[in-house]
Amino acid sequence: MRILITGGAGFLGSHLSDRLLKDGHEVIVIDNLFTGRKQNIAHLLGNPKFEFVRHDVIDPFKFEVDQIYNLACPASPPHYQFNPIKTTKTSVVGAINCLGLAKRVKARVFQASTSEVYGDPALHPQPESYWGNVNPIGKRSCYDEGKRCAETLFFDYHRENKVDIRVVRIFNTYGPRMHPNDGRVVSNFIVQARKGEDSTIYGDGSQTRSFCYVDDLIEGFLRLMTQTATVGPINIGNPGEFTMKQLAELTLKLVGGPSKLVHRPLPADDPKQRRPDITLAQKYLNGWAPTVPLEEGLRRTIEYFKTQV
Ligand code: NAD
Ligand code: UDP
Repeated sequence: MRILITGGAGFLGSHLSDRLLKDGHEVIVIDNLFTGRKQNIAHLLGNPKFEFVRHDVIDPFKFEVDQIYNLACPASPPHYQFNPIKTTKTSVVGAINCLGLAKRVKARVFQASTSEVYGDPALHPQPESYWGNVNPIGKRSCYDEGKRCAETLFFDYHRENKVDIRVVRIFNTYGPRMHPNDGRVVSNFIVQARKGEDSTIYGDGSQTRSFCYVDDLIEGFLRLMTQTATVGPINIGNPGEFTMKQLAELTLKLVGGPSKLVHRPLPADDPKQRRPDITLAQKYLNGWAPTVPLEEGLRRTIEYFKTQV
C-alpha cells in the first residue's frame, strides 16, 4: 500500500514510518517540522519507497494513497501551549483535511487521539465509554478540545460519508527520538540526570501516569488499522501506573550521577491520575498487551539520549 503519515517526522511518526516500510509499504510523510526533526527520518531519505514533504496540515493536500495516519500535532504541553490557537487549528483543520482526502480517495484514515480527551479523570482507570472531565477554557484546552473535536469530525465523516476511520486514544508514550527539549516528563528527567541537573518534579510528585514504550504502541496502531471489527475509539497504553516521584527516582537510579529531586509549581489542570483500561484493545486487537516494562524501556531510551546530550 501507499500510506500517508501526517506528522511523520515526529517521535511517533518516525517509528511508524520505519515499521510500515519494514512491512513493505510505500510511505509519504508530510510535516511542518514544528516539533519534528529531519534527523528522525534521515535514515529513510535514500529509500525509494519513502518521500518527505514539508507541509502544514492546515493547508489542503492531495495524495493518491490507500491509508492515512493523522499524527500531526505538537504533543508536549509546553509546545502545544506555545501557540494555542495554532494547536487547535492543527487538530481541527488537519482532521478535516485528512478526512476530506480519505473520502475522496477512499482511504482508511487513522486518528492519533489521546488520553487527554478524559481530562482530569473522575473515573479510574479510564475506559473508552468515559466522557471525560475537561476544562474547555484552560491552558490545556487547545489540545484537549482540539483532539475531542477531531474525534467528533472522524465519527461524523464516518456516519455521514461512510469514511473508513480508526481512532486510537494514546496514553503517555516514550522512547528513542523524543526531542531533548520536548518538555515531557520522561525526556526531561533523563536529560536532566545526564547533565547532572536536578530532576524537576511538578507539584508534590504524587500525580500518576502510565508509560508505554513506543514499540508496543506502534504494534497496537498496526493491529487497529488492519482489523475490521471496530473503528474505535480504542485506548492504547501500558496499564502500569507510577507517580512522578517514582519515575524520577527510577530514572536517577538508571542514569546515575549527582542529581537530586527538586519541586516546581504544578501546572494548571495537570491531571492527578491516568491509567488506561485496555480491555477493548485486548478484545479487538488480537490480545494486544504491552511487552516492555518501564525499567527496560527507560534503559533503551537512556541509550538513545547518550547520543543526543
Ligand atoms: P511530536 O511532537 O514528536 O510529533 C508531532 C509531529 O507533528 C511533529 O513532527 C510536528 O512537526 C508535526 N506537526 C505539528 N503541527 C503540524 C502541522 N500543523 N502540520 C504538519 N505537521 C505538524 O509528538 P508525538 O509524541 O510523536 O505525537 C504524535 C501524535 O500522537 C500527536 O498527534 C499527539 O497528539 C499524539 N499523542 C502522542 C502521545 C505520546 O505520549 N507520545 C500521547 C497522546 C497522543
Ligand atoms: N512533569 C514533571 N516534571 C517535568 C515534566 C512533567 O513532574 O519536568 C509532570 C507533569 O506535571 C505531569 C506528568 O509529569 O504531571 C506528565 O507530564 P507530561 O508533560 O509528560 O505529559 P502529560 O501527561 O501531562 O500530558
